[in-house]
Amino acid sequence: MELSKPILWMVIPCYNEQEVLPVTAPLFRGELQELADAGKISDKSRILFVNDGSKDRTWEIISDLAKADPHFIGISQSRNRGHQNAVLAGLMEAKDVCDITISIDCDGQDDIKAMGAMVDSYLAGAEVVYGVRSSRETDTFFKRFTAESFYKLLNKMGAEVVYNHADYRLISARVLDSFADFHEVNIFLRGMIPLVGYKSDKVYYVRAERMAGKSHYPLSKMMALAFDGITSLSVKPISIITGFGGVVSLVGFIGVIWAIIMAIIGKTVAGWASMVCIICFLGGIQMLSLGVIGQYVGKIYMEAKQRPRYIISERTWEPYERHYKG
Ligand code: UDP
Ligand code: MG
Repeated sequence: MELSKPILWMVIPCYNEQEVLPVTAPLFRGELQELADAGKISDKSRILFVNDGSKDRTWEIISDLAKADPHFIGISQSRNRGHQNAVLAGLMEAKDVCDITISIDCDGQDDIKAMGAMVDSYLAGAEVVYGVRSSRETDTFFKRFTAESFYKLLNKMGAEVVYNHADYRLISARVLDSFADFHEVNIFLRGMIPLVGYKSDKVYYVRAERMAGKSHYPLSKMMALAFDGITSLSVKPISIITGFGGVVSLVGFIGVIWAIIMAIIGKTVAGWASMVCIICFLGGIQMLSLGVIGQYVGKIYMEAKQRPRYIISERTWEPYERHYKG
């Protein structure tokens, strides 16, 4: 039996985007049509807008689009929960009714045309396709510098992320089924999706400027996102404290020896050596103990996430045929 074409759902978070949505919605629709006409995706493919508790006319615009064209679908969060949660809500809404999802911002910054290459890559066997910015020429120097430092810091701190990849990516429904077993509340999708595994690929594109409206990611929000990314993916900061504790203990030990030698040579006033010994000893022990306690807290933290312990991606026998939902 010939496989039918995959159903694609575009997942698009929107927060106060009344200026840009009327501009980009037809572009998404056009791309969907083009992919369907090229025979890459099913006609049952959809564009899912996730309204993230907007305070402007965004939801009305989405509702009107959905009324006018059944290819548009909208869901609305009860309040603003942030970009990551909006994308997650959309992916979970889509995963049972489609074969592939592509998440993309609604402001037209990410090259919509790259979707074709993503779907090609999926058809060639990749289950996750990361959209990677090949250049940031349109960003200001400041935005580029802070954004690139962000990726470097994350990797140094043990949160593995794909360099210059944000949240423009294709994920198959199969991967989303596995991802649904990650129950954590603090989510950082671009660091978590690589944890799920499966065969992945990258598609490069040039990031453009926003087509209308303004960014909701000032430096403060980006720093918060970096902090969230590090603390939700890695316990490396704790290991750094433990290492620091080791160094302080060593220095303390040397300090104790030094104080004793000085006392023996007699170059000290009464009481000095014992004071220095106590301070060095306690300083080292305290820092080291904090690190050890931290290691346990880190383990508890990881356990509390209840992540899946293994995910099977391939079998030489299939308990069920892989088939499209279309
Ligand atoms: N967004 C969202 N909730 C928020 C903030 C942003 O859903 O609380 C959406 C926004 O509508 C856009 C995407 O996330 O589709 C990226 O936001 P933005 O373009 O403002 O960020 P930038 O591209 O400047 O980093
Ligand atoms: Mg943007």
